[in-house]
Amino acid sequence: MSRRWLFADQLGPHFLDDRKQPVLLIESKAVFRRRVYHRQKAHLILSALRHRAAELGDQAIFLRAETYRQALQQVREPLEVCHPTSRRALAFVRDLDRVTVLPARGYVTSLADFADWADGRRGALRMEAFYRFAREHHGVLMQGGDPVGGRWSFDTENREPAPKGGKLDVAAPAMPKEDDIDAEVRADLDRWERQGIRFAGRDGPRRFPATAKEATARLRHFLRHRLAAFGPYEDAMLSTDPWLAHSMLSAAFNLGLLDPAEAVRGAEQAYRRGGAPLASVEGFIRQVMGWRDFIWHTYWYFEPNWRTSNELAARRSLPDWWHDLDADAVDAHCLSDVLGGVRDRGWVHHIPRLMVLGNYALQRGWRPAELVEWFHTRFVDGYEWVMTGNVIGMSQYADLGRMTTKPYVSGGAYINRMSDYCGGCRYDPRKRLGEKACPFTAGYWAFLSTNRPRIPANARMARALKQLERLSDLDAVVAQEKQRGSDPP
Ligand code: SF4
Repeated sequence: MSRRWLFADQLGPHFLDDRKQPVLLIESKAVFRRRVYHRQKAHLILSALRHRAAELGDQAIFLRAETYRQALQQVREPLEVCHPTSRRALAFVRDLDRVTVLPARGYVTSLADFADWADGRRGALRMEAFYRFAREHHGVLMQGGDPVGGRWSFDTENREPAPKGGKLDVAAPAMPKEDDIDAEVRADLDRWERQGIRFAGRDGPRRFPATAKEATARLRHFLRHRLAAFGPYEDAMLSTDPWLAHSMLSAAFNLGLLDPAEAVRGAEQAYRRGGAPLASVEGFIRQVMGWRDFIWHTYWYFEPNWRTSNELAARRSLPDWWHDLDADAVDAHCLSDVLGGVRDRGWVHHIPRLMVLGNYALQRGWRPAELVEWFHTRFVDGYEWVMTGNVIGMSQYADLGRMTTKPYVSGGAYINRMSDYCGGCRYDPRKRLGEKACPFTAGYWAFLSTNRPRIPANARMARALKQLERLSDLDAVVAQEKQRGSDPP
């Protein structure tokens, strides 16, 4: 049996054909010189890689080197590797002698099935249509030929605002217990920092699984204790509770520690056994085999320069306070809290990402490619493949809607409805002009005004565009926001 080379995002048992298969693991220091990663992300990746090496013992060759190429010079035998997760890594492994590249693993659906599905469609690709295809193809939440419950999506039932009292009544997940490997990684990162390698964000206890065992334990806990509450509150934001009922499994999926097919099966079983309501189960499955797979596939299906799309001509660079996660420089309560969450944990859930961070960057006209890099490096679960779709295709509307029907832009009213932020803010979500003007509300109108010719005149945008035409103070709002520029709000 050939030796399987596992990248640091291919660490779970489902990346091997046999439990006893010989393995190659490489830790490259150059990876951490190329980019400024969040310190907790660097810790998680290295911890996961070294834990896997320790688990495998003599079954694995574990090499630490400056570059992958230097490490590979020490290996003489032929190698296999599963399809890597970035274009750069794929080109690298394809170029190597003695390395066979196998199909991708770690997703519910295959690249070939997606390509067949997408080739047969005209116009924009939509997640909803792909999700139906994937559910039917894999027989997930199906009853005969129909979706269980008679509907493909229960999204409309999953939009409860933030729970009153500042806390969701749900069991908190157990945090992983750090061990000697974690301590060794932390000491190495301290040393690397002294040698000049830079990291962003604050150091902190490891909150995300670094082994398949830890990932499976978190999945089981989620299915048993948190899934039921996940659905209704999946879009809510709370300043006092960043986790709500989210699974906190995205980093484990993206490190390859946990097979998403196992999570989907587990969620379906929870529903069929009466352990969780259909709306929650369907919502979770849509996130995992709908959104996650869809975003993965679009990274490979669209042409390589999709990554640098900038159809709204957004020309401003990300400001230093954003790069540095300087939440203390920001007065706007929502943005300060969310940016602080990234600084302190390297993680906030999908709505703060999309409707606070992405929304703000879109309104300010920041360069989408820089934002892809920022999300990739600052989030524990960030990778180029996932942030390209999330940023270019979704949050920044930088490709004019190849996978969405409208820009994900909103004013303070949305944040006010879905969170507890606005009560404690120096701004007022209803005001667009003057000292108390909410930067999201004012930024929303300024964005629509500036980008009016490129915004689709479809049903989802019609009301907003009609309102825009009626604003008597629009010029003053646009001038105010121009002056605010990229300063911290
Ligand atoms: Fe955010 Fe505006 Fe609400 Fe303040 S008023 S928390 S800036 S949405």
